[in-house]
Amino acid sequence: MTNQREEIATCSQVTKYYKKGEFTVTALKRACLSLFSGELVAVTGPSGSGKSTLLNVLGLLDAPSDGELHLFGEACHSMSRNEKQSMRRRYMGFIFQNFNLLPVLSAVENVELSLYGLSLSKTKMREAAIAMLAKVGLEQRAYHYPSELSGGQQQRVGIARALVHNPKLVMADEPTANLDSETASQIVQLMRKLAHEQGTTFLVSSHDARLMSKVDRTLSLTDGVLM
Ligand code: ADP
Ligand code: MG
Repeated sequence: MTNQREEIATCSQVTKYYKKGEFTVTALKRACLSLFSGELVAVTGPSGSGKSTLLNVLGLLDAPSDGELHLFGEACHSMSRNEKQSMRRRYMGFIFQNFNLLPVLSAVENVELSLYGLSLSKTKMREAAIAMLAKVGLEQRAYHYPSELSGGQQQRVGIARALVHNPKLVMADEPTANLDSETASQIVQLMRKLAHEQGTTFLVSSHDARLMSKVDRTLSLTDGVLM
């Protein structure tokens, strides 16, 4: 990682509301934040406080209702669906609470999913996926299926899949919620190590205050308001 802290994401006064009939839920209220390269940032707050909304907006999965969003120097709030998809594929990785591995694919094949569309040969894809699995300590398990792996190992495959294309920003929405506390803590430490080694920024949501000591910075949300 370079010592130069590069600003990779900025939210200015980002508001997100959901309308259902006559009811409006404001899930995010005028959020302002900046994320820098190579940092592991936690988003904490109770259930319903807007953590997933913030990650989905920053991950270009959901459009802000108001405000401006810049990622990697580009204005994203007014992008088309295709432009957003292309940004996601090139620059972003996603890690999920329930791991989201495809059960019919082996660990290495799951990791390779992030490399499709990047014009790599099969050999290069396999090499990159195996190298990434080695970084998360699963080289020996490359040909195992998700059902043959523990929860913590499955999440490490999830991390490898999120990072194999060398994204700038990784979104992880409660990635440790389905893990025991010891494994959860190992997963956070692994993300922190990879963030620092690869210069990748991680935005990780959690309602678990115990994990806080392991991150570089914490943002806390209460009723859609970022502290
Ligand atoms: P968290 O991830 O912290 O639990 P969310 O971001 O999922 O919180 O939700 C924040 C608020 O927005 C909640 O009140 C939730 O009910 C509401 N919300 C989230 N998504 C939708 C949606 N698609 N439609 C309506 N309300 C939603
Ligand atoms: Mg959530």
